[in-house]
Amino acid sequence: MRLKAILTLKCPHCLQGKVYRGFFRMNSSCPHCGIVYEREQGYFMMAVFVGYVMGFVIAVLAGIGLYLTVKPDAIGYLLGASAVVFLSIPLIFHYARVIWMHIDELLDPRKPEELEAARENRKA
Ligand SMILES: [Zn+2]
Repeated sequence: MRLKAILTLKCPHCLQGKVYRGFFRMNSSCPHCGIVYEREQGYFMMAVFVGYVMGFVIAVLAGIGLYLTVKPDAIGYLLGASAVVFLSIPLIFHYARVIWMHIDELLDPRKPEELEAARENRKA
C-alpha cells in the first residue's frame, strides 16, 4: 500500500492526497488529510541525499545495462551513464522528496499536535 503511494507520489500520512499539483509545483499541505509536508525548516535537505543515492543507483544500473549490451570503453561508460542520470533528473526530483517523506513518516510518525494542526489546516 505504501509502495503504491510512493510510486503514485501520494501523501506519506494518508497515502491518498497528491504531493504535486503540477510538474514542478508541490502542494504545501496534503489536499486530503491536511498535513504540512515541510515539517520543519530544512526538512527537504535529506531529500537531496535520497536524490544522490537514486542518481548513484541509476548510474550503476545504466553501467550494467551498457556492459550487457554495447560494452563501450571507459569514456563510453562515463558518457552513457551520465546521459541516463541526466535524463532521470525529473524522475529523481519528484521521487526523492516523496521517498524521504515516506521514510520519515515510518521512522517518526506525525504527533497528535501535528495531526490537530492538520485538521485545522483542512478546515481553513
Ligand atoms: Zn494526506
